[in-house]
Amino acid sequence: MAGPATPRHRIIVLPWIRGIMQRFVLPNWLAITLGPLIICWRPLEARELAHELAHVLQWRRHGLRYPWRYWRASEAAQAAGLDRYRDNAFEVEARAAELSVVETPIA
Ligand SMILES: [Zn+2]
Repeated sequence: MAGPATPRHRIIVLPWIRGIMQRFVLPNWLAITLGPLIICWRPLEARELAHELAHVLQWRRHGLRYPWRYWRASEAAQAAGLDRYRDNAFEVEARAAELSVVETPIA
């Protein structure tokens, strides 16, 4: 799964949240992590879970300052002429965790 550290977490699947979040957050929104809670509109695949678990670890590392620091990272990306979401340093780290997952084919 997500490499050496799998932090304590809880996954909450809320199908009805999809429309709201895709309209107001991101058109392809799938999940948001708040502390140890991973809220998603459908069950996550292994790579998607690894991505959100990276955010769980980021919450643990930064505590309640995390939302502020996440927002600052978006500001920094934008100031550098990059994308607020994709080039946010926290998202870059989560994407690396995502890509580290090797999907094992079922024999
Ligand atoms: Zn993310």
